[in-house]
Amino acid sequence: MQLYRLVYYSEAAENLTIQDVKSIAEKASIKNASLLISGGLLYCEGKFLQVLEGGIRPVNKLFDTILQDKRHKNVNLIYFSRVSKREFEGWNMSLAFFPTSRDFFPEYIKYSGDLSFDPLSLDGEVCVELLRRLLERKKHAVPTT
Ligand code: FAD
Repeated sequence: MQLYRLVYYSEAAENLTIQDVKSIAEKASIKNASLLISGGLLYCEGKFLQVLEGGIRPVNKLFDTILQDKRHKNVNLIYFSRVSKREFEGWNMSLAFFPTSRDFFPEYIKYSGDLSFDPLSLDGEVCVELLRRLLERKKHAVPTT
């Protein structure tokens, strides 16, 4: 299978709660597994940054569905390219939730001069690296309770 990677940015609908976001990610994880799609979803300051990786048809079809979803708006495609390997292997749709980009300082400031979360100011490959690093951080986090 030829692999493709798609990155987009969007803004959450006004009434969306963190429980809604968690529910989107949980259901997405199950559906993406069946489509052999890997990726990650970052939610920060009411904005989404998502990476989808997989075959060209499943990725396009899923993106078309996501575009029509009223739970977000102003969807902007940032990056779409054929790639040689998955960066999100083993993650069908892992969620990274941060109330503000200050919560993932210094990762964010390494890539952006501005602390307010604005993925449109970042290069697509930088978005991929940032999201992967945040999910890695989550994977290695030690529970505090
Ligand atoms: P259905 O659930 O019947 O969806 C039919 C249509 O209704 C779709 O157009 C869907 O977009 C919309 N829809 C479904 N539930 C709601 C709701 N509660 N409120 C408003 N509209 C709704 N799905 C994935 O499978 N993988 C992903 O990686 C993924 N990422 C997402 C990221 C974001 C930011 C958002 C907002 C949604 C994401 N979704 C994802 C959900 C996706 O949009 C669909 O809801 C889901 O794929 C199921 O769609 P369906 O057509 O199979 O079935």
